Amino acid sequence: MLVLETAAKMQAFSKAQRADGKTIGFVPTMGYLHEGHLALMRKARELADVVVLSIFVNPTQFGKNEDLDKYPRDFDRDSKLADSVGVDVIFFPKPEEMYPAGYQTSISLANLPTVLCGKSRPVHFGGVATVCCKLFNIVQPHFAVFGKKDYQQFLVVGRMVKDLNMDLEIIGAPTVRESDGLAMSSRNVYLTPAQRAQAPALIEALRRAEKMVAAGHRDRDEILAEVRHIVESRPDARIDYVEMLKLPDLVDAAAQPAGAHLLALAVFFGKTRLIDNTVLEFGLAG
Ligand code: AMP
Repeated sequence: MLVLETAAKMQAFSKAQRADGKTIGFVPTMGYLHEGHLALMRKARELADVVVLSIFVNPTQFGKNEDLDKYPRDFDRDSKLADSVGVDVIFFPKPEEMYPAGYQTSISLANLPTVLCGKSRPVHFGGVATVCCKLFNIVQPHFAVFGKKDYQQFLVVGRMVKDLNMDLEIIGAPTVRESDGLAMSSRNVYLTPAQRAQAPALIEALRRAEKMVAAGHRDRDEILAEVRHIVESRPDARIDYVEMLKLPDLVDAAAQPAGAHLLALAVFFGKTRLIDNTVLEFGLAG
């Protein structure tokens, strides 16, 4: 497995692979890998001749008071894990390689970044879109795999690729969970044992909503109230948002929704903010 630290080396590698007729699958991450990340790499391994993983804690997607400096990092452990699932190259740039002096270009989307996580993290999705655009130009993949745990991110990146006619496919992969249903996240290590014990409230609430829809409930506010109630029953949980938005544009759900909707929640336990979501399929109206 190769580790490449400069954009020039990464681009030269990818150009040579493409000239050889090889397909390139790409998994962008911020590292501190867990099973959720590894599932994306396995998916890429299944589909592509060459698998590239990037590890880059992207400063431009963190707000001023967020956890950029204390975001967990362990490159040695990550590289062993990546090797174990057949990654061919880790692209591991330093911040100054990605944003050298004089850097001034960014990507912005009009609507998708303004809802859900974008409300409490106003700079986040612009930073995500910009770094993904850069990474796609550097790695030159035929496809990139994103986790649906970060569903809004998956939509933002997919929209950017479509809008800017980028020549790659975005593939979404299901959320990988701990045995008690908590979505795996590099940030779960921040939870105290008491908070960790309460964190499965998120999946419990989402599953309850899925059951309500399966049982024929159609009232948006009734479903949202039930979800809130389950989360709020945990003493340390503080809701950032619980929302139901229509896919794929994330516009407000009707009072009696029809079609596919994203039910998404963000919940603080202390300073740690956890997110999770599910797609609810309502029958068509009438
Ligand atoms: P991160 O390093 O947390 O920014 O995530 C890198 C990629 O891994 C993103 O596409 C995430 O959506 C994905 N990812 C993170 N956690 C999970 C999970 N539990 N299941 C599936 N994909 C995940």
